Amino acid sequence: MKLTLQIKLLPTQKQFTSLKNTLIEANTACNTISETAFTNKIYNQFKLHHQCYHPIKSSFNLSAQMVVRCISKVCDAYKIDKKVKREFRPLGAITYDARILSYVKEGISLWTIGGRLKIPFVCHNQKYLPYIKGEADLVLKKGKFYIFQTVEVPEEEIKDIEEFIGVDFGQTDIAVLSDGTNYNSDQLKTVRKKYSKVRASVQSKGTKGSKKLLKRLSGKEKRFVSISNHAISKQIVQKAKSENKGIAIEDLTGIRKTAKPKSKAQKTELNRWSFYQLIQFLSYKSLLSGVKLIAVPPAYTSQTCSCCNHIGIRKGKHFRCENCGNIADADENAALNIAAWGNAINLPEKTNMFCSIVDHFSVLKPIRSLVGG
Ligand SMILES: [Zn+2]
Repeated sequence: MKLTLQIKLLPTQKQFTSLKNTLIEANTACNTISETAFTNKIYNQFKLHHQCYHPIKSSFNLSAQMVVRCISKVCDAYKIDKKVKREFRPLGAITYDARILSYVKEGISLWTIGGRLKIPFVCHNQKYLPYIKGEADLVLKKGKFYIFQTVEVPEEEIKDIEEFIGVDFGQTDIAVLSDGTNYNSDQLKTVRKKYSKVRASVQSKGTKGSKKLLKRLSGKEKRFVSISNHAISKQIVQKAKSENKGIAIEDLTGIRKTAKPKSKAQKTELNRWSFYQLIQFLSYKSLLSGVKLIAVPPAYTSQTCSCCNHIGIRKGKHFRCENCGNIADADENAALNIAAWGNAINLPEKTNMFCSIVDHFSVLKPIRSLVGG
């Protein structure tokens, strides 16, 4: 599976300047190439190379391979739209390949206009470094240099399992598992509330500076959501792997319908919580760990009694069954139903309770195809 690693470079002041100047030089070259491409209507990489390579190589302080990368960057930009002349920001990202970037003992060795540099780095997913494949982008983000490196990580073989952990998303909590584990949204709510207060006071001003501040706030919130989603999905996948179980979640297309907000305040809170992202993380992490992940239809999962399968009553946080007297946490009850669905879909011959219903959902696709890997 292809993943992108975010690697933070730790350059010295001198190396930082070299990296920055490299971005400026390369992007200036891109603008010159773009001018040629647009004026002569040449958008094919081979033809553009023929036209631009020598003039660019002789007038810019760039290595041969970097000139090739620049031509490629311009071509890629025109693939999207040829109607307007493409212009590149002086500090925009540039792409490296194995000829101009490699990993050495001291860190990352990469070509810059100040010569080849060896720069130490930090990477939170060191274990994927042996799987480096393909290109890497050099990016300057908020005054820090990063390498976004493509890796191709082998997927672990998915084992046959008999039981599933059911995961219920976001009625009142972020996720509740069928074993009762609860990932609640208290911290998220606190953070969101804090930001929305600041946002409201800033928004009323409407100045240029306040727009900048708003943008920064939304970035911080997104990062918080993303960190939480990473942590939650990692824990769920680890749990499933250690218990030798699969993971059953509700079909992605049903999630927005299921998390029906009761109030406007709840609506913004729930909708903005990125369930889609959480599912994506769950999907790729389980694939990497060889954990089976399936999506089940969301119909009835919150109204069915997990003990006797009768339709019961959901009232706020509680679920009550008039048939068998079962009183349970509503989300946990739903998670148990999702787990049962998972078992039924996985091994229909071993379960009998849902089989007749399962047949009606022959359109079920594994979640992998829903989120595109
Ligand atoms: Zn019941």
